[in-house]
Amino acid sequence: MGLLRADGFVLRIRDFAESDLIVTLFTEQWGKRTAIAKRARRLNSRLGGVFDLLNRVEVVFYPKSRLDLVSQGALLQGFPHLKGDLNVVAAALLVGRLLDRLLPFHQPEERVYSLFGRFLNLLEAGDHSVDRLRLSVTLKLLAFLGHRPRLAGCVRCGSESGPFLFASECGGVLCRACAQREGIKISRGLALSLDAFLRLPLERVNVIHLCPEDIRVAVKVVDGYVDHLASGP
Ligand SMILES: [Zn+2]
Repeated sequence: MGLLRADGFVLRIRDFAESDLIVTLFTEQWGKRTAIAKRARRLNSRLGGVFDLLNRVEVVFYPKSRLDLVSQGALLQGFPHLKGDLNVVAAALLVGRLLDRLLPFHQPEERVYSLFGRFLNLLEAGDHSVDRLRLSVTLKLLAFLGHRPRLAGCVRCGSESGPFLFASECGGVLCRACAQREGIKISRGLALSLDAFLRLPLERVNVIHLCPEDIRVAVKVVDGYVDHLASGP
């Protein structure tokens, strides 16, 4: 195959050799790719600043089975407002890391790509609750990747009476009777709020009200589930 062109987000970067950069990109057209950008860390490199984390870039590369070779790259969006706020950038990086861990290589994921772009643009605009955006986008991305958590009732018996325990290994909530061991306790109200995050568009997250304690529990549940999935069977 000859040269390919793609739009993509920078998910991961690491230095390599004296002046090269190895970048993991989530491209719209070719899915997740790892590529080497030769001499990208030289002061006078035309690629300087292009491959910073979370940037949306245009890239031209030679595809290889493991490590693509970057031929050209240009910055499309750098998200300066997002990156100016530590809390916001931390939320964005966590979602980027999730994609780096869970996306399969070389497989386009159109819906995931579009959702991640909308998430970064909403963070950049700064009008939405950062916690709720991150919870919502994480749940939606998990659903798109085949791991939609079941939250509306017990995974085993269907009971809708809470409180529940969230069981990552079951992919959802268990009622008290079905839960065989300790887990993160989650009220029925919170389980339904998280379910609403799955169904409502990202742009509407502000209509779901969560108290700080709910957010703390929700983050624990969602991050624990991601860790469980990323650590593999
Ligand atoms: Zn049950």
